[in-house]
Amino acid sequence: MALRLTDRVEALPGVGAVRARALSKLGLATVEDLLRYFPRDYEDRRRRSTIAGAPPDAPVCIAALVAEVPRHAYIRKGLELTKVRAVDGGGVLEVTFFNQNYVKNALLPGESYLFYGVAEGTGSRRRMANPVFEREDRPRFTGRIMPIYPLTAGVSNALLAGLIQRCVEGCAQDMPELLPQTVRQEHALAAAGFSYCNIHFPESEEALALARRRLIFEEFFYLACGLARLRTRRDGQTGPVISSRALPDFFALLPFSLTGAQDRAIREAAADLASGRSMNRLVQGDVGSGKTMVAAACCFLAWKAGWQSALMAPTELLAGQHFHTLQNLFSSAGLRVGLLTASLRPSEKKALRAALSAGELDLVVGTHALLSEGVAFARLGLVVTDEQHRFGVAQRASLAAKGGGEGPEAPSPHVLVMSATPIPRTLALILYGDLDVSVIDQLPPGRTPVETFLVGEDKRQRLYGFVRKQVSLGRQVYIVCPAVEESEPPPEHAMGLGREAPAKGFADLKAVTAYARELREQVFPDLRVGFVHGRMKAREKEAAMAAFAAGELDVLVSTTVIEVGVDVPNASLIIVENADRFGLSQLHQLRGRVGRGRHQSYCVLVTANRNEETRARLKTLTRTTDGFRIAEEDLKLRGPGDFFGRRQHGLPQLHIADLAADTALLHEAQEAAKALLRSDPELSRPEHRPLNDQIRRLFTEQADMFN
Ligand code: ADP
Ligand code: MG
Repeated sequence: MALRLTDRVEALPGVGAVRARALSKLGLATVEDLLRYFPRDYEDRRRRSTIAGAPPDAPVCIAALVAEVPRHAYIRKGLELTKVRAVDGGGVLEVTFFNQNYVKNALLPGESYLFYGVAEGTGSRRRMANPVFEREDRPRFTGRIMPIYPLTAGVSNALLAGLIQRCVEGCAQDMPELLPQTVRQEHALAAAGFSYCNIHFPESEEALALARRRLIFEEFFYLACGLARLRTRRDGQTGPVISSRALPDFFALLPFSLTGAQDRAIREAAADLASGRSMNRLVQGDVGSGKTMVAAACCFLAWKAGWQSALMAPTELLAGQHFHTLQNLFSSAGLRVGLLTASLRPSEKKALRAALSAGELDLVVGTHALLSEGVAFARLGLVVTDEQHRFGVAQRASLAAKGGGEGPEAPSPHVLVMSATPIPRTLALILYGDLDVSVIDQLPPGRTPVETFLVGEDKRQRLYGFVRKQVSLGRQVYIVCPAVEESEPPPEHAMGLGREAPAKGFADLKAVTAYARELREQVFPDLRVGFVHGRMKAREKEAAMAAFAAGELDVLVSTTVIEVGVDVPNASLIIVENADRFGLSQLHQLRGRVGRGRHQSYCVLVTANRNEETRARLKTLTRTTDGFRIAEEDLKLRGPGDFFGRRQHGLPQLHIADLAADTALLHEAQEAAKALLRSDPELSRPEHRPLNDQIRRLFTEQADMFN
């Protein structure tokens, strides 16, 4: 049967509508999809043995002759056994299958089969339960290194491996070679055809290593080429020239003196603004390090030079808070600030838009609504996005594209990105490969580090006592739960990014609404308890948060919506329920909600989880408050998913490369990409055309940037 890469999976024997639908759940529609679906692991089935010589505890392949018609026995409902005896020259193997009735017709007396499994017992009489078996004269799944694939309901590993094996035999050699010959030679990379054969059905460990090396390198290489091209695009862009002369006027507005790190970041950004080229700068700093002031400084300078600024925040709450901060800061100077969010009335929105396009507002703060159609600026010179991990590269680009001034030669706005998620260096290189980076590695003076504790359920009563104590001192308390409703899995598992297996059920998880009710009615009837979660209407959310910020609530029960940026200096205690459900970096973010005022603050992580590894992971937080170290730890323990979910950044997804494990190859691929782009910056040579097309495809969300 001739197979082509573009054939639908239905073209494969044994695949009908039902299986095709099951396969589509894994994103597998064509033969090429199957070839690009990589094993998550391998099982070495090469070890062969006789019956008598088999080890009692490790799986082996045994060739044996079926000596009788399989016997079938019905034990009880749900348990049927099929037994058969097989022999070789020196021993007898008693093979038992549980609930696999087809076996009685599949094993023919007098035929030789290979059985793969553990031969229990010792000596020449052995037992094997549920072995993999196949005819000795046409082995496909025994006697070799077997791939193990990620699966879904209705798709077993045997099915998938069988289908992929046909694809490998049929047309793995047709997989296009997209890497330039020179790159392959210089970096000793295997050919595409070889790699797609051996990543699935390796001829040997060495062949597998070569295949992996090539495919991982390839993914990194595309990513590096794409990012490098984005960067050169931007580097070439002229930006509004914004002088730094007015910086002293800005400093004079501040109620405090800046930290050295803030000052440095502001001066770095100011130098970009004055350079004549568009700024593309990331400000990275731990929660509470005072990133907002860097943004404020840039907006101020832009205003002085006659340009408008836009500041985007990921939530309405945060947008509102920035609006108030900046309005307070700037009102005396005469800088006009507006707030544009999705919850405004249509008439209010209209008025705001009109003011923006007429140049009657100098700074607009908002959420994604800023990106929507119909928002036009008179002279947009600067775009700031806060809490970057919630925005994608594409979104950033889209707002930047709203362009400054008039005419075809109009400069593109400066872009400043603020991220409170400290990111390990290796990841920053990838995620922000298109940005310059300023790091704020210093907290404003007078902060005492948040004391962090890990406790089990047995401490719950004491914990509630501690809540009362804090409230009696006039402080406020956050209590964070992972899910809104009992049935809703926490977001990290919904995205399938976490490495731990999802919990069996979520019934034991503290669900916000129910838990808030329980606390209000039974535990703290005398305290003011409110709640906020992501499913509430924006206005309700705002109201609850505002009430907490104004000190009208003692306890706020919440999902992670409070994670980002919210500033309530009087809050001194945060309790995270089911803390094992969260990533370390996320917990660190949550912890940053307290310790923002003068009071000693506390973070209590509650978990009933007794797993050693989980507890060790959470313990990290009790030992350090350094966000960068925590991020490194998270990367090691959970992989890059938390940082690198596709939805978060709009970059191509990695299928085989692992940013945590394959850093050496990452660097090699980045060097290779740099070298290639030096020799052919636009990838316009004919031999680079396939590569260029591939990068365009992978970066579709920013395709416009390559035109
Ligand atoms: P981030 O966005 O980095 O988490 P913010 O910009 O929200 O931090 O600042 C946190 C708090 O610290 C705010 O209340 C802010 O007013 C205050 N702050 C910022 N810089 C300083 C400083 N240099 N000295 C004192 N307080 C500061
Ligand atoms: Mg902030």
